[in-house]
Amino acid sequence: MNWIKRLFCAHRYEWVRNIYGDEINLSGGKRSLWGCIECGKVQARGDLHDAGDLRGNAGPLPERGWD
Ligand SMILES: [Zn+2]
Repeated sequence: MNWIKRLFCAHRYEWVRNIYGDEINLSGGKRSLWGCIECGKVQARGDLHDAGDLRGNAGPLPERGWD
């Protein structure tokens, strides 16, 4: 039944994750993955999404919190 839902879905994509390294080549040069929150369809896009993906350059988390 899922394909029927996708057939009529207008698709509201949310960013899933960025693509790095060899995976860029494997995906045909795409840089980010997006998933439809309505039907789950996955779409790869050629532009890198920078908001919310700070793990790569934020460094390790501190061992203790501020409290
Ligand atoms: Zn959809």
